Amino acid sequence: MTVQLRRADYDAIVAHAVRCLPNEACGVIGGRVEGETKVIEKVYPLDNPDQSPEHFSIDPKSQLAAVKDMRALGLSPLGNFHSHPSTPARPSAEDIRLAYNPNDSYLILSLAEESPVLKSFRIAHGEASPEPVCVLRV
Ligand SMILES: [Zn+2]
Repeated sequence: MTVQLRRADYDAIVAHAVRCLPNEACGVIGGRVEGETKVIEKVYPLDNPDQSPEHFSIDPKSQLAAVKDMRALGLSPLGNFHSHPSTPARPSAEDIRLAYNPNDSYLILSLAEESPVLKSFRIAHGEASPEPVCVLRV
């Protein structure tokens, strides 16, 4: 499936990632599935309790609050995002090991290069498969 998000939401992910440097940033995403496209309607930047440049975890309480907000808006949880401050935008061995929902999209934003790189993956049976990301102009 293609993951589609608005420019403003992309910018919000980048801003959150930059703000959390040198540590990894994370959050969850909500939206709708339209045919073969996951349409992200809302991005929820969350704290990273790990406070680490190489690890992240999503606080269950914050995640639950975000999911409640999604339900109230008629949205579904679509997955999560996290940043890689100094490594490429691909899942680490730990990312793959800790991924538990094969339907989730795992977005990774790399800040290793001059320009941020955002990629998305589905992770199942210990394997990550990339899925296309489409950032709308508005
Ligand atoms: Zn990672």
